[in-house]
Amino acid sequence: MGKVKNFKHLLGDGHSMIDIEKVRKDVEMCERELNEEYYLNLSGLKEELNTASIMEKYSSLFEREVVDHVAALREVSDPEDERRLRYLHYVVTHYYILERVKDLTDSKETEETRMKITVEGEEMPYRLSGVTMLNEDNRPKRQAIHNARLDAIDPLNQIMEERMKKMHALAKELGYANYAKLYGTLKGINFTSLLSEIKELKRRTDRLYKDKMSEVTERIGLKLEEAEKHDIAYLLRAKQFDPHFTKGGSLPALQNTLKGLGIDMNAQKNIIVDVEEREKKTPRAFCAPIEIPDKVMLVTMPQGGYSDYSSLFHEAGHAEHFANTSAGEPMEFKYLGDNSVTESFAFIFDYLLTDRNWVDEYIKMPDTDAYIEHAYLEKLFFLRRYGAKLEYEMRLHTEGLPGMDSVYKTILEDSLVFDHPEKHYLLDHDDGLYCSQYLRAWIFEAQLRDLLKEKFGEKWFLNSDSGGFLTDLWTVGQKFDVVELAQNEGFQGLDVEPLLEEIMTNLE
Ligand SMILES: [Zn+2]
Repeated sequence: MGKVKNFKHLLGDGHSMIDIEKVRKDVEMCERELNEEYYLNLSGLKEELNTASIMEKYSSLFEREVVDHVAALREVSDPEDERRLRYLHYVVTHYYILERVKDLTDSKETEETRMKITVEGEEMPYRLSGVTMLNEDNRPKRQAIHNARLDAIDPLNQIMEERMKKMHALAKELGYANYAKLYGTLKGINFTSLLSEIKELKRRTDRLYKDKMSEVTERIGLKLEEAEKHDIAYLLRAKQFDPHFTKGGSLPALQNTLKGLGIDMNAQKNIIVDVEEREKKTPRAFCAPIEIPDKVMLVTMPQGGYSDYSSLFHEAGHAEHFANTSAGEPMEFKYLGDNSVTESFAFIFDYLLTDRNWVDEYIKMPDTDAYIEHAYLEKLFFLRRYGAKLEYEMRLHTEGLPGMDSVYKTILEDSLVFDHPEKHYLLDHDDGLYCSQYLRAWIFEAQLRDLLKEKFGEKWFLNSDSGGFLTDLWTVGQKFDVVELAQNEGFQGLDVEPLLEEIMTNLE
């Protein structure tokens, strides 16, 4: 083919030293070791988190030559190779940027771990104060924690500003118009068209959101406009449902749910469930794929409560996806690709918690209606929040930092109404516009769930054929992106209507 002629020119002498198979092997090992390091630290087995020494070990991956070499190889590859190289191109570019800001990333983490705040004469660690705040019934006390936290974040903002400026400069240095363009191109996501879909969802739920959320804030005597972030976090925490979600019940509920789908979790030797109580273990469930598919950690320290259950189910969705990926798939499809895919499978399990039939089967509570309404309001809140985040982050990453604190406040408040402090403009942010992948996952999950209901009935989760259907989807890992997955299942592509419709029917 004509393209091959360019081969020599594209892969000039400087690149010939790079062995692409070694790059692949190193990326895989680096991913695995990083996941293991996070597992050891977050599970409380190891005090320090030492990602820097792992990055050091694979330093040859973080060179500009590697990025350029992979980009050049894409030009001359057949479609199947190109797909693998596209995923590889994304990860080496992402690594290239992260490696160059790693000291700033670490100093932000260290500072945050070290920081203490004083509330009414009482000293508390900054990190822990967030949880204390959200469980505090007394509003003045909650407000005091919130204010003390706000006062404390200036040094964090300084570090994050420097880090962000550096990342923006690196994106340009790599030849992209800006940071948003880099991530949109390499992730293969059109942020602009995703945002317009999400804005449609926002427009059509404006009144519903304001009405329902106002009912909630009125319970503590506030109008929605008067509420602050800490009030909403406290109200969404919804302690009143805790008695139905007992501490000891989450894991059995998960195992029984999987059994209903024909999946015997106890027989899955490649999923290692870590439920041990450890002092330094993070209370929130997580999944760490140390080796896909042979060693997938599902970690939890049950606390009880609705969100404890939903995070365990979410992480179990990731774990099943990774553990059912075929060992024979190339590294790129096992470890890389579009994370909207694994987030969709996580949501499929997560949102069983909002399914009335599932609740009747596995939880049983007297006032299911109030609970379901609460769960859907929370879901709508998150959708609108992430839609606003996408709009804000697109501006931050195309226009640069100046003035973005007030842009953050304006956009978030336009969608969510209650107060958003300007100072949160960098703290409330994830690298690489990850919010777009959650949004794509929310959209696709609703389509996929409709399909499961259509094929296997309203109680699809009690049918082992649904388990078989999902397992088939899982075998290719993240070979296909979420749009291709939708198309493979007969949809035109991503469609926000099923998501919108389920919210309307469950909240009206
Ligand atoms: Zn997830």
